[in-house]
Amino acid sequence: MLRLTDVSKTHPGGVIALDRVSLLVEGGEFLAVVGPSGSGKSTLLNIVGTLDRASSGRVEIGGLEVGALGDRQLSALRGRQLGFVFQHFHLVDGLDATENVATGLLYAGVPRGRRRPLAQEALARVGLAHRRDHLPQRLSGGERQRVAIARALVNRPALILADEPTGALDTATGHAVLALLTELNAEGTTIAVITHDQDIADRLPRRVELRDGRVTADHRRPGSREEART
Ligand code: ADP
Ligand code: MG
Repeated sequence: MLRLTDVSKTHPGGVIALDRVSLLVEGGEFLAVVGPSGSGKSTLLNIVGTLDRASSGRVEIGGLEVGALGDRQLSALRGRQLGFVFQHFHLVDGLDATENVATGLLYAGVPRGRRRPLAQEALARVGLAHRRDHLPQRLSGGERQRVAIARALVNRPALILADEPTGALDTATGHAVLALLTELNAEGTTIAVITHDQDIADRLPRRVELRDGRVTADHRRPGSREEART
């Protein structure tokens, strides 16, 4: 699904955010990315999500080498294969829940007339059918994040990338969001989640630790499907 080989990233200003990171993620995995603030987690997720480019090294997603793709091809790859979830939801204020979710289909090659029904289906899937006409400001934090997850899954991506998806939520709501991601993973979606929450990281089958831009540990939980495969 995903193969990084010696990926480094130097940000403008000279900060080395990633230092020769190599990582292999198989289809169907669910992994946590953990590490102190500034260790390069968001940089890693943005590079995997093709929102940012590596300074050196090789990134392959579903067998495609990202470095060889132009902007149009990258945007098609994002629109069809990837879903994103962020800490602060990134919903558009003036759009209701259905319209926000439908924005996840803008680059997926789905005809305009199909977008609304697919968005409503995705909202039903995250338990928000009854909120589909609501604007974000009329939703709770947990509901906003479920709308964001519906937007991430509406194009049926192979890979969902989540950067601190529970970071702005209380513990119970955070666990409900994790349960939803766990269901999506059980249905076959590969998921990578950045989290500061040790409790959440401990529940996931695989935990990759970053420190100063390097992978310092990569654990598979004993008895997990991922461990059985290695
Ligand atoms: P994390 O998500 O683990 O907190 P980041 O990937 O955001 O870490 O940042 C890693 C390092 O890169 C930090 O030192 C940060 O200040 C720096 N950095 C991140 N993004 C940028 C940027 N756009 N420009 C310059 N430096 C950046
Ligand atoms: Mg970050």
